[in-house]
Amino acid sequence: MTQDAKASPAKPAETTTSLKDRGNLFEIAMRQIEKAAKLVKLDRDVWEILQQPKNEILVNFPVRMDDGKIQLFKGYRVQHNNIMGPYKGGMRYHPEANLDEMKALAAWMTYKSALHEIPFGGGKGGIKFDPTKHSKSELERITRRFTHALGTNIGPSWDIPAPDVGSNEQTMVWMMDTYANVVGSSERHMVSGVVTGKSVTAGGSYGRREATGAGVMHCIVQWAKDNNFNLDGCHVIIQGFGNVGSFAARLLAQKGAVIVGVGDHGGYIANPEGINPHKLSEHVSKAGTVATYKGAAKITRDEFFALDCAIFVPAALELELGVKEAKALKAQLVVEGANGPTYPEAEDILLEKGVSVIPDILCNSGGVIVSYYEWLQNKRSERWDHADVLERLETRMTRTYHDVSQYATKHKCDWRTASYAMGLERIERCYKERGIFP
Ligand code: GLU
Repeated sequence: MTQDAKASPAKPAETTTSLKDRGNLFEIAMRQIEKAAKLVKLDRDVWEILQQPKNEILVNFPVRMDDGKIQLFKGYRVQHNNIMGPYKGGMRYHPEANLDEMKALAAWMTYKSALHEIPFGGGKGGIKFDPTKHSKSELERITRRFTHALGTNIGPSWDIPAPDVGSNEQTMVWMMDTYANVVGSSERHMVSGVVTGKSVTAGGSYGRREATGAGVMHCIVQWAKDNNFNLDGCHVIIQGFGNVGSFAARLLAQKGAVIVGVGDHGGYIANPEGINPHKLSEHVSKAGTVATYKGAAKITRDEFFALDCAIFVPAALELELGVKEAKALKAQLVVEGANGPTYPEAEDILLEKGVSVIPDILCNSGGVIVSYYEWLQNKRSERWDHADVLERLETRMTRTYHDVSQYATKHKCDWRTASYAMGLERIERCYKERGIFP
């Protein structure tokens, strides 16, 4: 462990609606990782390398809007590390996207892939804008122009984007198509692996759509087995009802769990008898929020966090779970479907209360795991059956879950530290063997 690793200043553990008031996400991420670096007595030189991303790419690009006027957009791509394989990670479309957020999210991708032994590094990017405020044709032009502005900074063996908050299968298909057209016609079918999370029709993988939610569900099923906990009839609350939250809800309902509270950017709702996640998903696809759903009562954010439940799945944005929320929470288990939803101070409170926390890089990795399968299928011009993909995902999630569990027991540490430590040890071994060039 390096002597000169800088201690990050304490950050306010309060959640507000604005991301910029929540503290510097990169500093928070580095605090978490530093704890694990100390545990494994990480080599000083390796720690030095991992302190900052390798590349931080910023592009400002003009796009013609439907009204004929030109608007300038700011896009990001942060490439954290590629010692284990090509940079890999999502593209976030959000009005509050910022560089420190991208740096944190990119670093988390490095450790997420290393933990699951996927041969990828870590990257993240996106555009600072609100996609809900644009027509489909504007979204297409914004995405294509962004992809073009990134140029050869992305590529199937170099840096592979995927969906994240605010982007989806369609976004990925536009990205792939733009990239393929720029590389030239003779190569267009060789480069479909430049992005993952594409629609199945355009070269995506079966099972990618539900992959992150399925991974969350597998972790919960394993936790229930290990703790003799009956999922049938247990109460679950979910914050965020996008791709991750909505699939987690539907898959948990299949295991008998009852979704009693849900929230998103539009508001919070509860029903002690249970909310039908299929009907709610249909509603959200039309209305854009859970808040107006008729099958549940409107509640406040504070009431949501104080709901009677056994399991809480944060599946919205980062830093939603602060000290106040941690104190109010009744759940026995927190499963981080989102990236970085929990302040370190809030996690301390949860652990003191005896709450189990399954960290993001372990439990929300279903997306990147199936992205890896999609990339392999693209490389080999194969199409794997849906059931095959889902089975491989379950096997890998379950294996890593048990590895982390054993590591945490052996080293008497929390699961987040165990997960980072395992990733760090693998990266360290690789640097030790390869060294740096020249
Ligand atoms: N955006 C997702 C994540 O944060 C998926 C990344 C990927 O598939 O590359 O894990």
